[in-house]
Amino acid sequence: MVELSQEASKSLAQLRQWLKWRNLLLAALLPGGLLVGWVTNVFDIRWLLLAYISAWLVCFVIVRQRVRYWPCPFCRKPVLKKGPFQPFDFTSKCLHCHRNLKPSSV
Ligand SMILES: [Zn+2]
Repeated sequence: MVELSQEASKSLAQLRQWLKWRNLLLAALLPGGLLVGWVTNVFDIRWLLLAYISAWLVCFVIVRQRVRYWPCPFCRKPVLKKGPFQPFDFTSKCLHCHRNLKPSSV
């Protein structure tokens, strides 16, 4: 176990909060879409589904970018951003220093 500075611990805790928001947004997409689709049909509010999808997309892009560019508390490089195209959004390690970002490791 590595002893982290107070600043690094705080940074990791904030990163985990953003990761939770990202995962929550992903989990809410389908059930929220179904609910809004049902409300759209029942009450004939046609713009509601488009508003829901637009709001979800804007929130997801903001949260995803925040997570990808979060500075690693160990090497200070973006934890999940290494190149223009990379499918590593769900790794639990920094892509640069390979330090584990999970709570149990620190
Ligand atoms: Zn790192």
